Amino acid sequence: MKLEALAALFSLLAAANAHEGVFGRHAAIAQKRQDTTSSVSSASSSVSSSLASSQTSQASTTSSQGATSAVSSASATSAPVAPSAPAGPPATGANGVPPLSQITSGMPAGTTYAASETFPAGSTPSFSGAPPLPTPFVFSPGNWPAQDKIPPTDSPEVQEWIKELDGVNIPDFAPTVDGSCGGDPAAAAQAEQRGWWTCGGWTGPEDITMCPEKLTWGISFDDGPGPYTQKLLDYLDTKNQQATFFVVGSRCIERPQLLIEEHMAGHEISVHTWSHHALTTMTNEEIVAELGWTRKIIKEVLGVTPTTMRAPFGDIDNRVRAISLAMGLRPIQWTRFNGFAYDTNDWKVAAGTVSPTDQMATFNSILGNATLMDNGFIVLEHDLYEQTVDLAVGYTLDAARTHNPPFKLQRIGECMNIPLTDMYLETTTNTTFPAHRDTNTSGDPNGAANQSSGARSLTSPAVSVIIAAGMAVVGGSLLL
Ligand SMILES: [Zn+2]
Repeated sequence: MKLEALAALFSLLAAANAHEGVFGRHAAIAQKRQDTTSSVSSASSSVSSSLASSQTSQASTTSSQGATSAVSSASATSAPVAPSAPAGPPATGANGVPPLSQITSGMPAGTTYAASETFPAGSTPSFSGAPPLPTPFVFSPGNWPAQDKIPPTDSPEVQEWIKELDGVNIPDFAPTVDGSCGGDPAAAAQAEQRGWWTCGGWTGPEDITMCPEKLTWGISFDDGPGPYTQKLLDYLDTKNQQATFFVVGSRCIERPQLLIEEHMAGHEISVHTWSHHALTTMTNEEIVAELGWTRKIIKEVLGVTPTTMRAPFGDIDNRVRAISLAMGLRPIQWTRFNGFAYDTNDWKVAAGTVSPTDQMATFNSILGNATLMDNGFIVLEHDLYEQTVDLAVGYTLDAARTHNPPFKLQRIGECMNIPLTDMYLETTTNTTFPAHRDTNTSGDPNGAANQSSGARSLTSPAVSVIIAAGMAVVGGSLLL
């Protein structure tokens, strides 16, 4: 039913958008997803369908903040992209990517990349105590849920993982309609009580939302590993730069070698669910399945289990938080400050709703805004699409690296002073991290209120005032 709603919204986007071809194609794929089961052999279509899902939910989630309905927000989001003058770096190709103006949804597909290095079983990552790589992962369809679909909850695996919630106080409120504020006004009205990040930016005390040190940038890439991830890894390698990768289980079974390469290069690996749907829309059991299967594939490929997660679209509330923490996964969001989120909007370029020059203008605004913060910050980028990888490799990362004042680019755990060992269950030496079963972090309205105030304690008083002002302006929601 949710997929049907998403498909309907997507059709609206398709009809209204000038880039009919791209949207139409992905809308068709989104529709097709309701009737078909993708497989590993249909890697390209499953990647595309993931994009469609991402576009739809992102559009719904983002634009509905402050909007009254999904329909009206869809119309607002899909307004034609106005041409604009280039901003920021010159529109010339760099690091083997096209000129900025040519990085569009309709750009010719470039070279796709297989993993450039192979690491045999027994290879050992560089960090202390890291277990050797296990026997190479071999995909067997009968052992895994269908790609890009919320896994069933009646499997023996999920039934076992559900026991991890025993004794944990899970908030007892209903799933949201579609993970957006406009799509569920009743839930949006309870956003503070729910600790719902999507509607108002509410966070919990365990959430990682920014780096503590000023001018420090926590780098993250979501939704991979994908056909162009290798291009990004090569770039990061030349700069001796590590990042945090929030990986999707359905993508990991397609490209386990890339997951290994990320891990062996010292990047951090974190859980980004199995099917990449909005978690607040799901039952407790479905959330367990989404997180559990992704933990499992990462463990089978790498031999380690992440201790962190990021909700798709950042759509998290106290119920999702409590389940994630009970499963040993600490939430990581991206920074919100001064009325907008540190979302580079790179995915909108891939979707055809934002021009690359406008995207860079947004990005430069983030860089300028970041210099005003007392803290460092976490930025959202993606490695699933060619456009987003090209923007990162050719433009955004270099812009940050050469910025004045200079930024210190780090993995998110690194910027939080969390050792790489503590990012994984098998190697952590921290008895209070990964997250624990402390019921004080979840549950009743008082707990929710504490979570919100606790989150604000991570920010400076000035930031809290700005957040409060922003909420007042838009009637309880921070606009992205
Ligand atoms: Zn994502």
